[in-house]
Amino acid sequence: MDVVVIGGGPAGMSAALVAGRGKKNVVLIDENKPRNAVTKESHAFLTRDNIKPADFKEKGRRDLLKYPTIAIKDGRVLEIKKTDQSLFELTTEAGEILQTKNVVITPGLKETLPAVSGIENYYGTSLFSCPFCDGWEMKDKPLILIAESAQALHVIKLLKNWTDDLIVATNGHSVFDTEQKKVFELNHIRLIEEKITELKGNNGELKSVVFKNGEEVERSGGFCTTVLDNSLPFIEQLGIEVNEAGYITADMMGHTNVKGIYAAGEITGPSQLIVSASQGHMTGVGIIADACEEAFQNI
Ligand SMILES: Cc1cc2nc3c(=O)[nH]c(=O)nc-3n(C[C@H](O)[C@H](O)[C@H](O)COP(=O)(O)OP(=O)(O)OC[C@H]3O[C@@H](n4cnc5c(N)ncnc54)[C@H](O)[C@@H]3O)c2cc1C
Repeated sequence: MDVVVIGGGPAGMSAALVAGRGKKNVVLIDENKPRNAVTKESHAFLTRDNIKPADFKEKGRRDLLKYPTIAIKDGRVLEIKKTDQSLFELTTEAGEILQTKNVVITPGLKETLPAVSGIENYYGTSLFSCPFCDGWEMKDKPLILIAESAQALHVIKLLKNWTDDLIVATNGHSVFDTEQKKVFELNHIRLIEEKITELKGNNGELKSVVFKNGEEVERSGGFCTTVLDNSLPFIEQLGIEVNEAGYITADMMGHTNVKGIYAAGEITGPSQLIVSASQGHMTGVGIIADACEEAFQNI
C-alpha cells in the first residue's frame, strides 16, 4: 500500500483521487459519520450548489472507484504505529491491519451543540452554524443566534449582513460585557440572557423560542455556536504537531511535522466543503511530488 487515507469527506476523497491518478495504490477508510450529515443540502460548492451531503459522497466515491489504483473500505481507524521498516501500521475497529508508507489524516471534526433541549431536531434544517454555508437560505428572516460563549461576537457581526432582525440568546449564560451590550443596542440586536426552555416548530422548521421567564419569541430559524472536537488518538501516538487551538499543523501540501503523515480538511481548522476538497487535492499533489523527488534522487 502506498497511501492510506483516513476519512472519506471532500478532503479525503480529493487526496485519494489525486494520489490514485498519480499511480499510487490508495486505500481510503471511512466510517461515514460526517458532521454535515444532518443537513438536507450543502451550498456554495461550485457546480454542486444545493447538493445533498449523501449525494455528494456517493458521486465522490463513484469518481474514485473508476480508478483501479483506489479502494474504499468502510470502517474506523483506531490506531497508527510506526514500524521498524519506517512504515505505518494502522488498526481498524474491525481488527484489520494495514501497512503503508504514507498516511493522510482527514477525519473532519465532531461537534457539540448548545445545551438546549430538542435543538438536534432543528440543527441542519432551520438552525445552522455557518452563515457562509446557509446564510442565503435564512436571509431577511427573523433569526435567533444561540451562543453560550463570547466567541460568538464575530458571528453576530456576520449575521447582520443576512438579516436586520436578530435576537441573540445566551441560554442562561452571562458572556458579554457592558461595552459589547452597548454595541448590540446600537445595532438593534436584542440580547436575551434567560435560559431557553423549549424550541417550538414542526419538521425541523423553528417557529418560536420559549424562555424560562415565560417569554416566547417567534423566530423562523437561526444559527448556533458549537463546540468543535479535534482530538484524535493518532495525534499523540505519532507526535504530530498541533496549533494553539488543537488543530493539526499542515503546510499547503498537507505535510505535517512527521514524515509520511499528511493532513487536510477540517482537522487542520474548520472550513467548508470546497476548501477541504482543495486542501485534499493539494495533499495528493504533495504525496506524488514527494514520491517523485525521492525516486529521482535514488536513481
Ligand atoms: C450543519 C452543517 C452544515 C454545513 N453546510 C455546509 C455547506 O452548505 N457548504 C459547505 O461548503 N460546507 C458546509 N458545512 C461544512 C462541511 O461539512 C465541512 O467543511 C466538510 O465536510 C469538511 O470536510 P472534511 O473532509 O474535512 O471532513 P468530513 O466531511 O467531516 O469527513 C470526514 C470523514 O471521516 C470520517 N472519519 C472520522 N474519523 C475516522 C476514523 N478514525 N476512521 C475512519 N473514518 C473516520 C468521518 O466519519 C467522515 O465521514 C456544513 C457543516 C455542518 C455541520
